[in-house]
Amino acid sequence: MTDDIARARDLLDHATSVAVLTGAGISAESGIPTFRDALTGLWENFRPEELATPEAFEANPKLVWDWYAWRREIVAKAVPNEGHRALAELERQCREHEVDFTLVTQNVDGLHREAGSHRVVELHGNIRRVKCFGQHHPVEIWPEGDGVPACPRCGSLLRPDVVWFGEMLPSDELAAALAAARTCDVFLCVGTSAVVEPAASLPFMALQAGARVIEVNPRPTPLTPSASVSLHGTAAHLLPLIIGIAQ
Ligand code: NAD
Repeated sequence: MTDDIARARDLLDHATSVAVLTGAGISAESGIPTFRDALTGLWENFRPEELATPEAFEANPKLVWDWYAWRREIVAKAVPNEGHRALAELERQCREHEVDFTLVTQNVDGLHREAGSHRVVELHGNIRRVKCFGQHHPVEIWPEGDGVPACPRCGSLLRPDVVWFGEMLPSDELAAALAAARTCDVFLCVGTSAVVEPAASLPFMALQAGARVIEVNPRPTPLTPSASVSLHGTAAHLLPLIIGIAQ
């Protein structure tokens, strides 16, 4: 493990352009459940596709709104962990050495910015924001009550401003993520099961363009066999070691 950490550090030290992709796993140690873990307790009988789709919302808006309200409460109480902070430090180090840096996240919790990261591409939106279902009007304040609140402008029901299964990703964010994957020489992939598209393809695009991939995940993923360095452990433990802010 020590050798692998040193190899990962060495790759980052010699990079001219770094791209990072994070998934739900990096926020697990902040107490935010991954999708797998978010479907426990009250929600154990559902699958993500039954809650995180436009069809699910149309069929049962109250169920979907309540699931997101529950997750929003968890996110509101969460604080960034050592993994988020290590990536903010990596960005600072890259800036200092004039190395390109882009952090692409599939997470909707906003914890990277809270940890001090600046160049963050939120591919799947942000759960703290709300918009209306019909016209995508952003809404800042809404009443918390029994029903699903409606848009003050058009009356359409409100929904979280996240990308659901089957929806298009925001085009600017997707373009920035693709550009980062195609131009980086080191791609660091943290806490993602590497199966949700199109994010899952980003490390493979980077590989095809000649980049080296470092993976941090307690479990093997479809990316593991292609990674130059695969570190099996948690983000909050391993990232500070790789970035060199812990021993
Ligand atoms: P996922 O739930 O499919 O996979 C999580 C991955 O993290 C797994 O491979 C797991 O082994 C790994 N993991 C678990 N604990 C970890 C830790 N402590 N450190 C490092 N890795 C750890 O998540 P995904 O790949 O991000 O894709 C699913 C979708 O879930 C995404 O679209 C995302 O928007 C959404 N999601 C986001 C949040 C959030 O914003 N925090 C939470 C749940 C789901």
